[in-house]
Amino acid sequence: ASNSRQLRLVFFPHLAHGHLIPTVDMARLFARLGVKVTVATTPLNALLFAHIIQRDKESGFDICARVMKFAAEEVGLPPGCENASSLTSQQMTSKFLMAVDLLRLPLEELLEELRPDCLVADAMFPWATDIAIKFGIPRLVFHGTSCFALCVAHSLVRHEPFRNVASESELFDVPALPHQIKMTRSQLPDYMKEKTETVVKRLMNQVMQSDSSSYGVVVNSFHELEPAYSEHYSKVMGRKAWFVGPVSLCNNDKKDKAERGNAPSISTHECLRWLDSKKPNSVLYVCFGSIFRTRGARLNEIAKGLEASGQDFIWVVRKVDDDEEKEEWLPEGFEERIKGKGLIVRGWAAQVAILEHEAVGGFMSHCGWNSTIESIAAGVPMVTWPLCAEQFSNEKLVTDVLKIGVGVGAKVWRRWTDESVAEGEISMEDIERAVSRVMVGEEGDEMRNRARELKNVAREAVDEVIRETCRRWRLCLGVTNGTGVFEDIVNQ
Ligand code: UDP
Repeated sequence: ASNSRQLRLVFFPHLAHGHLIPTVDMARLFARLGVKVTVATTPLNALLFAHIIQRDKESGFDICARVMKFAAEEVGLPPGCENASSLTSQQMTSKFLMAVDLLRLPLEELLEELRPDCLVADAMFPWATDIAIKFGIPRLVFHGTSCFALCVAHSLVRHEPFRNVASESELFDVPALPHQIKMTRSQLPDYMKEKTETVVKRLMNQVMQSDSSSYGVVVNSFHELEPAYSEHYSKVMGRKAWFVGPVSLCNNDKKDKAERGNAPSISTHECLRWLDSKKPNSVLYVCFGSIFRTRGARLNEIAKGLEASGQDFIWVVRKVDDDEEKEEWLPEGFEERIKGKGLIVRGWAAQVAILEHEAVGGFMSHCGWNSTIESIAAGVPMVTWPLCAEQFSNEKLVTDVLKIGVGVGAKVWRRWTDESVAEGEISMEDIERAVSRVMVGEEGDEMRNRARELKNVAREAVDEVIRETCRRWRLCLGVTNGTGVFEDIVNQ
């Protein structure tokens, strides 16, 4: 290859909105730096961002999507079931993972054809490291979470502190971390606690192994947000991490902000106009991500808690699909009473555009990492209600380390396909109390001020990524061996 050859990267995101959205942001960022970028995914997932890629292409950036067949029918999934958000049972989850496994061959074919300089593949594809090795290129892993959560997970797996407690609710220290972090067994996933091997446990073990044999990780976060964990990750765990976030800040265009993921269920214009009529910091935005759906009891408690808090709110509701049309989950007369005070969005909202509106003063969230980092990038403090995955870790970062949020008191880890909610798990009083602490009074203002400071640092961090990476890429453009290219960038 000649010295002036344009660098080429292949991005291979996991098939879930929380991974697709930031990966596409990242890919677009690299395309803006003059890199030739390909995003490889399945047909329906490609449709989610086809229009954004098309716009970028028309603006002259070298970016394209490559569509791979998803073998849903071969493994017995309903046709069209290509995204984690369409899974509603554990059985579907196992079949989905089988179909995901069948993407190996199309990925190999793609690398054979494109011969990229590097593969950025999601952690959920542990086999991607071996494929990259076969083609002699570095593989970077994208986990879609914070560096903090990676450190917590590493400590939990290595030291197993949860084996020494007497009950599910007894607090234990997560050992050997820069801060004292306390958790309970009930906040951990089954696969971590169980000793017998399950499909998910096997996958998680493979993910960890492939992590350590890969080149390093890219993290949608910024060093200044979690400096102690950034150091811990590289010095104690001995791994390379490259911070490129918050990637949501790369969407400067209004259209881009409004069109990440699904089409909004309510026009973004209408939503923002509603917010225009509200005072600064007076509205709570409530949304639990792209996957989790809930039934009656929890929704009812949220409705009552929101009403009791007296705050204005935008509430994004994703219900279980087969729920009857009549919305019995709402307290009687609720919608009538909240008219003008609350906006219920049934389906999908333009989250980043909403969070950035000055009327929004708080975000009640499940602490998915994208939602968390988007809240930080918008300078908005949080009411935290983690449900599963590493969301309990993200909550600790927000409430205990950064001190920009208050928890509702979630104690139990749930599968995302869990439809049952233990009655009384979180009461309307818990919700009202946490909302008031964030939205009203001095404590809330202090959290808001800290969140604002982080927002400013976040903006600078992304600008720095763009400036520095440009410089480093230029420096490295002549290096034809892929591993050499990344040596310079990752070891900054
Ligand atoms: N999101 C959105 N509108 C919605 C729900 C979600 O734009 O109504 C976006 C949100 O901005 C974030 C992603 O979907 O980028 C959700 O990712 P997160 O990690 O927060 O949660 P997950 O969906 O993975 O549980």
